Amino acid sequence: MEIEYTKAVIYCRVSSEKQVKEGNGLESQEHRCRQYATSLGLEVESVFKDEGISGGLFDRPAIQSLIKYLDKNWQTKYFVIFDDLKRFARDVEVHLRLRSELKCREAKLGCPNYNFDDSAEGEFVETIFAAQNELERKQNRRQVCQKMKARIERGYWCFCPPTGYEYKKDQEHGKILVPIRPITNVLAEGLTAFAENRLLEQTDFLNFLKSKNFHVLIGKNVKRLTFEYIKGILTQPLYAGLIKHTEWGVSRRKGHHKAIITEETFNKIQRKLARPERKPRETDNLEFPLRRVIDCAVCGKKMTGSVSKGKTKYYAHYTCNNKECSANPKNIGMEKLENDYVALLDNIKVEQEVLEIGKLIATRIWEQKVKDVSKNEAIRETEKKELETMIDEYIGLIPKTKSESIRSRYEAKIEGLDKQIKELEVGSENKKAPDFDEALNLTLKFLGTPAQTWKNSDKAMKSIIHNMIFTENPSYSVKTGFGTPKLSLPFHIKRLLGAKSNDLVEVVKKNWHSIVEESSRWRLILHFDYAKHKIALGSAIPIGS
Ligand SMILES: [Zn+2]
Repeated sequence: MEIEYTKAVIYCRVSSEKQVKEGNGLESQEHRCRQYATSLGLEVESVFKDEGISGGLFDRPAIQSLIKYLDKNWQTKYFVIFDDLKRFARDVEVHLRLRSELKCREAKLGCPNYNFDDSAEGEFVETIFAAQNELERKQNRRQVCQKMKARIERGYWCFCPPTGYEYKKDQEHGKILVPIRPITNVLAEGLTAFAENRLLEQTDFLNFLKSKNFHVLIGKNVKRLTFEYIKGILTQPLYAGLIKHTEWGVSRRKGHHKAIITEETFNKIQRKLARPERKPRETDNLEFPLRRVIDCAVCGKKMTGSVSKGKTKYYAHYTCNNKECSANPKNIGMEKLENDYVALLDNIKVEQEVLEIGKLIATRIWEQKVKDVSKNEAIRETEKKELETMIDEYIGLIPKTKSESIRSRYEAKIEGLDKQIKELEVGSENKKAPDFDEALNLTLKFLGTPAQTWKNSDKAMKSIIHNMIFTENPSYSVKTGFGTPKLSLPFHIKRLLGAKSNDLVEVVKKNWHSIVEESSRWRLILHFDYAKHKIALGSAIPIGS
């Protein structure tokens, strides 16, 4: 039985602005469809429009609402009109799916320049058309990708610019990345400092950016400066003038845009990021505090702890598990090794005069921290003033508006701003200076008596102490005992300065600059945490020497 169609709905779609310019815009499509409907004597009930949406997707919003519309008005049978088969779908699978969705709702498809025909031959031709459209779409995409790839290969970036760069037209190069000066100045300073270990950890890099008001410079909320974001900046080769695109098989090469750091600095940063952190593991055997932190002096492999069963009792020992190792005996009694270790610590305690230097360095670092905090205080004060001005502006607007809903929206805005001010205020309160002297004395006591401190500490603390003192695992064999271990700065500073001078403190004062460079490790021994107003003993893990 032939269904009588009297009503129509129209579907239009544009995928880009270019189409609009070429006279294929939504309005012209709708116009042609309406003309077509009139010619068939159909009444157009509704028009559905998708904008900026690819014809390859089935989940197009307007298509979905069109289907919903048909379902809602199921008693009426509709003629569904679109301007061109390409508007309908550019993908065979989507075409067929969409077609069957509409067919099962008894909708008839109509198109001014294509005659739908339900015969077997008609459907075949229709499928060919859909396939042709799909091919065209894929070819377009491939062409765009190939053009972009070729440009990247020639040393031009053509995706989103990285933070601190923008695209500018250039006579020689066309569209090219150009640094935005105040932003890249801060970035270059921070990246170089991170590469040279003046900023030790990623947190320090982050805090550096914050202290330079980086978020204001790039016009983003400070909350957007996440660790992920920071990592993205640290690993961005474009900053070093380099270009690469791994997925497209474009290897690292020099780009034509201006670099803000050297390639060497960039490589240093990547090496630093690749270095694994040494952290005490929860699974570390509690019985063996020296497990995996002492190397076998014969083969260099890490010693592990083990327990063996004798006739009447168990024996605990450290052992080299390397099958090819010639050390004999391989097992070292637990007590023997740990006693030797304590003796080693006793030997390398820091002398009184070096402790004086430590005091000096720690105090300097502390003063710098306090200065940074008061700088942040000033920034906070400015932010507060800005928020208050905004509140005043909104308050000024309220009497001028007659609309109740707009007024309540202003009020909500004001409430939100007020909350932000309160948060800022909370941030600046409770910031009493911690008892610096007490914490410092505690630390210095540790440095003066590391063996004693180690013996009295639990497993986790033992591991921290070990990492604070040694920059490399000490090696040990039963025959030779411990070799000369590599020590962290506080423990070898005297050697570093040449122990000639009697007044070490004076030497330090004179060489202040080079010592600060060298002494980043002190940060690891005294862990300053202003937010929690405390100074902890060594809560950070040393970075390799
Ligand atoms: Zn060995």
